Amino acid sequence: MKITIVAGARPNFIKIAPIIRAIENKKSAGIDISYRLVHTGQHYDKNLSDTFFEELNIPKPHSNLEVKSGSQAEQTAAIMIAFEKELIKFPRDLVLVVGDVNSTMACTIVAKKLNTKVAHVEAGIRSGDMTMPEEINRIVTDSITDYFFTTSEKASENLKKFGANSKDIHFVGNVMIDTLYQNQSRFEQPSFWNEFQLDIKNYIVLTLHRPANVDEVDSLINLLEGIDNLANGKKIIFPIHPRTKAILGEKKLDVKNIFMIEPQGYLNFMYLVKNSFAVITDSGGLSEETTVLGIPCFTMRNNTERPETITIGTNNLVGTSVENLEKIYSEFLKTSAKKSGIPELWDGKASERIIDILLSK
Ligand code: UDP
Repeated sequence: MKITIVAGARPNFIKIAPIIRAIENKKSAGIDISYRLVHTGQHYDKNLSDTFFEELNIPKPHSNLEVKSGSQAEQTAAIMIAFEKELIKFPRDLVLVVGDVNSTMACTIVAKKLNTKVAHVEAGIRSGDMTMPEEINRIVTDSITDYFFTTSEKASENLKKFGANSKDIHFVGNVMIDTLYQNQSRFEQPSFWNEFQLDIKNYIVLTLHRPANVDEVDSLINLLEGIDNLANGKKIIFPIHPRTKAILGEKKLDVKNIFMIEPQGYLNFMYLVKNSFAVITDSGGLSEETTVLGIPCFTMRNNTERPETITIGTNNLVGTSVENLEKIYSEFLKTSAKKSGIPELWDGKASERIIDILLSK
């Protein structure tokens, strides 16, 4: 079986690493499977891309489409044009896409129009929020995908409601969590740990990059200053996404507790998360990782496509206002953290299941 694997952005790189490892294991066992890795170039900063390839031992891509930034339409169109050429030149039995970024949707459309089967890893999750570009990417991708690999029964149910055929839907677990388990023993203390005088469980990790939180500069500043006020003696480590950094520009922030740093590589970042007191974020992936690590997570969004991180895990949905965050966070400080568990099949073996299922097709 010949597969093209598509990856375009930071969370994609984290998701493809264990899938490639599972394919390599099959190849070593003499099974006829090969892959071609296509990087669309959606994320191209070293610390959002190359670092992840190096740290997660992802082989150099066979092809880099180098699409770089642009508006939603410009980027999607550029990926489609470049990926069509790529797939015509290197036809494959299957294109495997992960997640919900523009590359996921763009390459799915191209593959289907070239009569190539598509497998979508992390299919079926839905926030119900059509203002999120990711939600549109999810719906379009899943409307033409052939094989759906889901992280929860809920996601499988969403697909059935949407009309997907049950025999094509496979609840396999979570590849992002495969990466977490495969690398947990390699998590690495960042070099600034002593300089910032960080102590285990005595600081907060903050990440923010969704348009609803960061696109309007004055509300972003208001939000950050509000978060700074609830630190309660704890330092807040804020690896700032290039998108957020660009919006803040030269604006001065009146903050005492927030330490802004460059986006971190996976091993340093996960060390920070694992040893933190709590995480404040608008990232979906991070709400899954904190769930598995048992770290309280406060998600600055009005909805989530990952409800199991709330019903089973450590996630709390706090909306986008700092007042609401303050209310829920101070409640959490008064009571002990809620009891949490790990969602079904988030056991580090999702990628193996995916490759076994694909080989049986
Ligand atoms: N991450 C990282 N370094 C950072 C911030 C995030 O390695 O400085 C990782 C982390 O594993 C997280 C993932 O990147 O789960 C999420 O990326 P992002 O926030 O870009 O995507 P989202 O989860 O919002 O789709």
